[in-house]
Amino acid sequence: MKNVFSKFKGFILDLDGVIYLDKQLIPFSKKFIDYLNKEDKRYVFLTNDSSLSPKAYSKILNKLGIKCTEKQVVTPITNFIEILRKDSLMNDQIMVFSSKELKNFIKKEKIKIIENPSRYKDSKSILVSGNINFNYKDLMYASLCVQNGAKLYATSIDNSYPTALGNVPATGSLIAAIKKTFPTPVTNLGKPSKKIFKLAQERLNIKKSEILMIGDNLKTDIAGSNSFGIKSALVTSGKTSLQSARNSKIKPDFILKNLKI
Ligand SMILES: [Mg+2]
Repeated sequence: MKNVFSKFKGFILDLDGVIYLDKQLIPFSKKFIDYLNKEDKRYVFLTNDSSLSPKAYSKILNKLGIKCTEKQVVTPITNFIEILRKDSLMNDQIMVFSSKELKNFIKKEKIKIIENPSRYKDSKSILVSGNINFNYKDLMYASLCVQNGAKLYATSIDNSYPTALGNVPATGSLIAAIKKTFPTPVTNLGKPSKKIFKLAQERLNIKKSEILMIGDNLKTDIAGSNSFGIKSALVTSGKTSLQSARNSKIKPDFILKNLKI
């Protein structure tokens, strides 16, 4: 019997809950990637987690035995840099509220970052990405930037994410606080935005009908695939149980227990 994967030429794969959990491989994920390579299928990883750069993700994946180049990793930051490039905004000065790692990565892309927060009035755009060191000062200056006309970009609009301790605030909660201070529109750079799916498709360089997205999150992975117009498979190895998948209004094309071929 042929597996569901055989009819697709390219794959957009979520990371957390699909390939690994807490950076530990999920059973069958490595074998699945080996299968894709053997069958000459194309794949990119698409994650909303912006704590690391695409290069750092590719290093982690290769260490785990998952073949992956930097170009095969698409994150909200890839989307952000693409927007700045396409709209010729590379000369604008921006402020970045993110992890150090991510800020350094953005700097390397030759984007002009304002380091001194007292220059908030000069900032044309701001990028907010939840991180453990985000503090009141960040919240204050981010709010002041948007009050002075800066465009607000968020790496995701998820309000929380699960940890061993319980659910903790994610970027969406920080954005909510900024918007409480000064109501302003926000551009979501992550899934389910169509733009980031388009970017992943461009990396695969194939038609939409030839692509399968595999994810564990109904609201981001599956809703995003549905609105972008590609087929999707939900795996129940991560965030979503089989029961909640069946009860949800958001419907994937396939529901799979794991990536077993
Ligand atoms: Mg996930």
